[in-house]
Amino acid sequence: MIVYNTLTRRKEELVTVHPGEVRMYSCGPTVYSRAHMGNMRAYIFMDTLRRVIKFNGYKLLGVMNITDVGHLTSDADDGDDKMEKAAKKTGKSPWEIAEHFTKLFFEDTDKLNIERPEIVAKATDHIADMLEFVEALVEKGYGYETSDGIYFDISKFPSYGKLSGNTRLSDNIAGARVDVNDEKRNPADFALWKKAPKEHIMQWDSPWGRSYPGWHIECSTMSRKYLGDTFDIHTGGVDHIPIHHENEIAQSEALLGHPAVHYWMHVEFMQVDGRKMSKSLGNTYTLDQLEERGYSPMDFRYFCLNTHYRKKLNFTFEGMDGAKTAYSRLLALVGACKHAESGTTDPEIIRQFDKAFLDAVSDDLNIPLGLGELWTLLKNPPSRDIYDAAMRADKVLALSLDKCDEKKDDDVPADIRDIAERRFAARKAKNWAESDALRAELAEKGWTALDSKDGYSLKKN
Ligand code: AMP
Ligand code: ZN
Repeated sequence: MIVYNTLTRRKEELVTVHPGEVRMYSCGPTVYSRAHMGNMRAYIFMDTLRRVIKFNGYKLLGVMNITDVGHLTSDADDGDDKMEKAAKKTGKSPWEIAEHFTKLFFEDTDKLNIERPEIVAKATDHIADMLEFVEALVEKGYGYETSDGIYFDISKFPSYGKLSGNTRLSDNIAGARVDVNDEKRNPADFALWKKAPKEHIMQWDSPWGRSYPGWHIECSTMSRKYLGDTFDIHTGGVDHIPIHHENEIAQSEALLGHPAVHYWMHVEFMQVDGRKMSKSLGNTYTLDQLEERGYSPMDFRYFCLNTHYRKKLNFTFEGMDGAKTAYSRLLALVGACKHAESGTTDPEIIRQFDKAFLDAVSDDLNIPLGLGELWTLLKNPPSRDIYDAAMRADKVLALSLDKCDEKKDDDVPADIRDIAERRFAARKAKNWAESDALRAELAEKGWTALDSKDGYSLKKN
């Protein structure tokens, strides 16, 4: 397997610490709100990587964290704890908030065929482990106390910034921030542990009084606990490169005296109109919103798989329509193979497909190329052999290709979908005159919109 390593900025052959086994850590959700489709792109990437690893015959030990304390509204040390902020807003406890959104997260990831990693680790279940880690850093001279917490002294870690290639990070961050905490020794020093103001609900005893962990320490602590002092792959979104993952590297290497991670892999953003899809920009969509508009979780998974994970992916409804149409065609072709009269296809064709598919997905997850190979295979006359080959490929794609018997919407042209969307919006706004006019326009073009409780489907007359 070949993977692109953010740390070395090149593709490298995957050589594992333990022969035949991959150990991998993935930064998981902060459970203060419902994960949006940008987040889901990151977890579809994680899942696809896991599947390709297993497809290559490796055993896999994967860990994902659930952040339920300590992630401030900025990724650095500014702002409130996201969990506490959500609790205040809703009148619920941070624990209730965490439980609610963790449950929703897994409901959504299940629908998207995202497998759960072998170990899912909650930050608040690991307070004692994190405290031990921070105490060791302080003992070694990397951590120091200020009036509001324990900070990591980046001047003691000369390679700080090596992941992002930003070795002048301290200057940049100081310039970018409004408040520079003047008790810090260097502007880019970051919090390992925070002293809790009285009103902070989540707090624990520590040598420094009632307090709570910083966000970065949870990943250094839990990855080491479950995967050992050196492990193979660490994943996350590109937004984690300059702060969260630099800080993880500093903490882990300072403690261990050697690097903990061999390959750092990052997924690019899902964007909307050229900007990151994010809660703070208010441009997010969630899975239930997509479903309301008539898109299935598999339409979205197909949409993601069709773009390489290191390329930005612009979220648009035209793009989703394209994915929906392509996915239903794919299902129809696979379905034709399932029910084909002929059982066989030239074994050489099948052998070539299997090899081309494996080569593509093993080359830094070139899933778009792998999908292309599948489309090419499906140009052959339908057969059970092709169906079986598609099922093998679906171990990586996880597009539920075995569900090819279920009835799907007819392929809907983009202009029809557009009228239907406008009618749906008008109907939602109770603008009946416009909604009727658009229904008539659809009828003229030979289509009927069938309304359901929370969406609609389209039928060709
Ligand atoms: P968070 O819950 O904010 O910690 O984010 C969870 C994961 O989603 C992280 O790995 C982020 O890097 C990733 N992420 C957040 N926004 C996007 C986006 N627009 N596109 C892709 N990944 C994202
Ligand atoms: Zn993390």
